[in-house]
Amino acid sequence: MSATTITAGQKQSAAYETLALYIDGRFLGAEGRKTEPVYNPATGEVLAQLPHATRADLDAALAAAERAFATWSRTSPLERSAVLRKVADLARARAESIGRNITLDQGKPIAESVGEVQVCAEHAEWHAEECRRIYGRVIPARRHDVRQLVLREPVGVCTAFTPWNFPFNQAIRKMVAALGAGCTLVLKGPETAPSAVVALARLFHDAGLPAGCLNVVWGVPAEVSDYLIRSPIVRKVSFTGSIPVGKQLAALAGAHMKRGTWELGGHSPAIVFDDANVDQAATTLARFKTRNAGQVCVSPSRFYVQSGVYDRFAAKFIEVMRSTRVGDGLEKATQMGPLAHARRVDVMQAFVDDARSRGGEVVFGGARLASPGNFFSPTVVTGLPDDARLMTEEPFGPIAPLTPFTDPQDAIRRANSLPYGLAAYLFTESLKTATMAAGAIEAGMININHFGMALAETPFGGIKESGIGSEGGAETFDGYLVTKFVTHC
Ligand code: NAD
Repeated sequence: MSATTITAGQKQSAAYETLALYIDGRFLGAEGRKTEPVYNPATGEVLAQLPHATRADLDAALAAAERAFATWSRTSPLERSAVLRKVADLARARAESIGRNITLDQGKPIAESVGEVQVCAEHAEWHAEECRRIYGRVIPARRHDVRQLVLREPVGVCTAFTPWNFPFNQAIRKMVAALGAGCTLVLKGPETAPSAVVALARLFHDAGLPAGCLNVVWGVPAEVSDYLIRSPIVRKVSFTGSIPVGKQLAALAGAHMKRGTWELGGHSPAIVFDDANVDQAATTLARFKTRNAGQVCVSPSRFYVQSGVYDRFAAKFIEVMRSTRVGDGLEKATQMGPLAHARRVDVMQAFVDDARSRGGEVVFGGARLASPGNFFSPTVVTGLPDDARLMTEEPFGPIAPLTPFTDPQDAIRRANSLPYGLAAYLFTESLKTATMAAGAIEAGMININHFGMALAETPFGGIKESGIGSEGGAETFDGYLVTKFVTHC
């Protein structure tokens, strides 16, 4: 085991986002409201105070969304599309400053933050295009004088809860899907990395979205979600976050018969077969493992490697993990930033402690880094039994357990043995193996020999306990529309 060195931190000086609620077209600051501090995870410094919504604020946001729905749902798709296109243009124009603020409050390297905003402009454009193609259909009738129509209409006021790992991406996906479909929205973003969602509210505001169509609130997550989901004004819930919280919110939504889109956690298996391009597999997987410090719901997190190439794979994988430059995300050279919260460092340590107690060998990393901020080393563990915590629970951090297999069917059985079903990664040069494994693996998204998910035009979503519904692709509006049948003669 050896320690990773950390790139020097840079003093923050320039301004951060002016944090606010956004209700009925107005940005609202603290003004007598409770606030909570927002920290820079690379330094521990307080960046700003985030105002919490009062009960009256939540009611105002719901009432505004209800009022706005009456007109927005009847606004032509062409006009809705124009607003989303303008959002895309503004996002590109402001990507540098929004990205810098994401690095300040979330910690990821600046190139990843700016890239997140730029890629999201594509999500806005895709929804601008697709919302003009929300078609119904005509069903041939049994009588010549009867017309049978299937209409697809916006479901109504939606509420959404988005996480801190991709604060811009996760929020804009819900915004453009809801608004493109003709719905209105009350969204609670991540309190620990709030700048991206405030920046999004400014983008939509400046793009000319009518007041009340989008409302942004902050507060104690469980209190806000409970209040909004129970509200009779709300017709649909969309949540991205952990499985335990997703189950709680889905149960509440179910009790009130609200529709839901649930993008939850994963524990994605990567299977490397003997005939894989081993160097490419190891490099690709190690780079993805450290992306956003492993705080990615589709991060590869269990590595099953066939015995013929296990040693070669492990050596290359460790080499790439070891070479990862960890540091303040504002430093250009940094490849991996801090974990987003102090509590995540303790979670990583607990995974490593459990691994050691289960006979695992920490072959690289395994500890927090000696520096202010929430830095944890990229970590590789070998020799774990399949029931160790790292093999069964999503680490959501830069830790990779490697384990060998001999029989491909056994690797698939082990990959499918958990309740997760988000993403999976296969590395093989054999079309036969790829086809067999892609068919057998229980996951919503399968990547073979590369990573190709989360594009605007492709559906993103899990199965099993990893969620219900897809965001992106042609499926993107399904969760925001209801089907109405009309027959007349
Ligand atoms: P957490 O379960 O406390 O919170 C996860 C997210 O849900 C956060 O954004 C949080 O603000 C929100 N949240 C928590 N309770 C809520 C409630 N009752 N109502 C509404 N929102 C609520 O976990 P954490 O420590 O913040 O994050 C780590 C875990 O979260 C990981 O294990 C991972 O599974 C999950 N996560 C998943 C994603 C994803 O993209 N699917 C993103 C971020 C976090």
